[in-house]
Amino acid sequence: MDSRYRKQELFSPIGKKGQQSLSKSKVAILGIGALGSFSLNLLARAGVGFIRIIDRDIVETDNLQRQILFDEKDAKEGSPKVIAAKKKISSINSEVHIDTYFSDFNPSNAETCLSGIDLVLDCTDNFETRFLLNDVCHKLGKNWIYSACLGSYGLVMNIISKEICFRCVIDNIPAPGSVATCDTAGILNSTVGIISSFQVTEALKFLTGNFDQLLKKLLVIECWNNETKYLGVHQNKSCQVCSRNEYEFLSKETSGTTIKLCGRNAIYINPGQLYNLELKTLSDRLQSFAQTKLNEYMLTFKVDDLEVHFFSDGRAIIKGTEDTARARTIYSKYIGT
Ligand SMILES: [Zn+2]
Repeated sequence: MDSRYRKQELFSPIGKKGQQSLSKSKVAILGIGALGSFSLNLLARAGVGFIRIIDRDIVETDNLQRQILFDEKDAKEGSPKVIAAKKKISSINSEVHIDTYFSDFNPSNAETCLSGIDLVLDCTDNFETRFLLNDVCHKLGKNWIYSACLGSYGLVMNIISKEICFRCVIDNIPAPGSVATCDTAGILNSTVGIISSFQVTEALKFLTGNFDQLLKKLLVIECWNNETKYLGVHQNKSCQVCSRNEYEFLSKETSGTTIKLCGRNAIYINPGQLYNLELKTLSDRLQSFAQTKLNEYMLTFKVDDLEVHFFSDGRAIIKGTEDTARARTIYSKYIGT
């Protein structure tokens, strides 16, 4: 072994033994946006042997302010975040195996996405996905680390299986419009770095067996106002997940989804069933009346004032509208259902 991890091994709670544990560890990161790219960067440099990254999105210019693994070329090409991240990480630490899932995380694939995984890092940006993650992790007995970031404010909490679950603390999805989003409150890249660093520190404790040092509270940091709070959290004895084993989000039917992408004037469509399509055929068909661009992962074409990114598994992102019905119509008209 070369000296790559020497400084980390000198830190006595990790040591050579902890370093070996890291190299044998399997971690999943759900969401490779702001928090996900910071956390992936740190875990890969720390020498976690296997990291599965799950994300459905592509890189855009306004990601570059905080999503540190991506560059202008990725945004120009509209690369899938998982693909761009894997490429960057392989040039940082080629010893780490990066396993990519270019997909959303939904009830039909959630258990498969987490199979064989020791620890999950939640770097998502919505409650629906977190509640699903909470169901799956409780069912499979896996630990996960919640993180969230908005403005100059962030949260971190360890969800230690058998001790507590996320819904003990937040029992239901907040009503639409009741909480700010990064598109209304903005987000500071420095705050993302701080929250991710706390999340990764907790991950290193889990993976090296330093369980006594784990954070057992909800950490709340408000960077702009210089405030840090540790809030007590307790298992709710009537929690529907960890007390009654009722997996509301995991048992939802996956019959396709059409959702507005927060503040992006875009609609995401997942047809439900995933395919392995030959995009060239569709590209040829559209060429006579639409401007098309084809790469390994997706076909991009423009119709009216809309830009459609269509992926080989059948999913699509339609930019230029917030009207789900219009986006669905465009999908059926040009792609077919
Ligand atoms: Zn619970």
